[in-house]
Amino acid sequence: MAEVVLADVSKVYPDGTRAVDRLNLHIADGEFLVLVGPSGCGKTTALRMVAGLEEISEGTLRIGERTVNSVPARDRDVAMVFQSYALYPHLTVRQNIGFGLELRKVPKEEIRRRVDEVAKTLGLEDHLDRKPRNLSGGQRQRVAMGRAIVREPRAFLMDEPLSNLDAKLRVQMRAEISRLQRQLNVTTVYVTHDQVEAMTLGDRVAVMKKGVLQQVAEPQELYDRPVNLFVAGFIGSPAMNLLQGSVSSADGAWWVTLGENRLRLPDEVLQARPGLRERAGAELIVGIRPEDMEDAELGGADDADGGADRLLRSKADLVEALGSELLVHFGVAAPRVVTEDTKELASAAGAADLADIATTPLGGDTAPESVLVA
Ligand code: ATP
Repeated sequence: MAEVVLADVSKVYPDGTRAVDRLNLHIADGEFLVLVGPSGCGKTTALRMVAGLEEISEGTLRIGERTVNSVPARDRDVAMVFQSYALYPHLTVRQNIGFGLELRKVPKEEIRRRVDEVAKTLGLEDHLDRKPRNLSGGQRQRVAMGRAIVREPRAFLMDEPLSNLDAKLRVQMRAEISRLQRQLNVTTVYVTHDQVEAMTLGDRVAVMKKGVLQQVAEPQELYDRPVNLFVAGFIGSPAMNLLQGSVSSADGAWWVTLGENRLRLPDEVLQARPGLRERAGAELIVGIRPEDMEDAELGGADDADGGADRLLRSKADLVEALGSELLVHFGVAAPRVVTEDTKELASAAGAADLADIATTPLGGDTAPESVLVA
């Protein structure tokens, strides 16, 4: 096992594409780090550089005590699990799992023992003589994991290992990977474009965009205190509402104006973002998590704590029933897509805290016409 350290690592492809731009990551021994970002953000390239499958253009990569920039993949002592599983179709499960050990001329008896042990860990002991084509998607995925585990590498590198599975199996395997990683305690770098996977698996999550690391933090920190608009919009489903508005001071309080609505800024937000006071009148983006809103009528807009100061009046234009909850889309505050050209984020963090989490469910047969930011 080992820590993995990337210091100012960049990748420039021969055609001039700068796929990864000065990436700095310190992945601790035994840590599960997830690299997440939209397609083309450079996460696979970053992982492949760690694996030794892609040359590093600039910067240094260290695994354990060793700088490995020029160490070939096979000598880095890391194991990669691919999206495609990359199993050999003509070999049995036992042969597939043991293949890497055979290459390293590990004695046959030891290979047998280690493969048996790994197969047991993964619940594959009854399938050792089968060929991959006779396995389900989930079992194939386990074989690919088994092949990585049996080598007892210093780090696991996983590139979207669950993306070929159906939704239900993906959730199941996600939990298995999480349990397995904790049990084996091997440093793991895991690439995905799925933020739910990132949030549930990672001890820490690194968000990338266009080759540049945006933020690396524990999942809850990322959710509660995104450092910029991109992270604010990328993490969370349904996405954080990002609304154009302005702040001003009047009647002894601070207010944020969103179209025709005016909301009183809670003290916590002002305390978290003292700089807001200097931005009176300026355009800014206010972020409000969907779960921080509730139906004003159910939530008591006229209650004593001044709920009326935090009313967004808008007509619901779409209600999606998810079974356990309803997603209500509003003209003013719907789950929205983030646009990258929005320049300023006044308070992704503060605004996310604009409200305490409201627990009153949205409900009723009729769509509410106003929402209360609690
Ligand atoms: P995806 O989730 O779609 O796999 P990604 O985040 O893993 O995307 P990369 O595959 O690392 O992204 O690609 C990052 C950027 O580098 C993209 O703009 C891609 O087009 C470019 N790129 C990847 N491989 C090469 C290559 N061999 N030559 C030139 N450009 C490349």
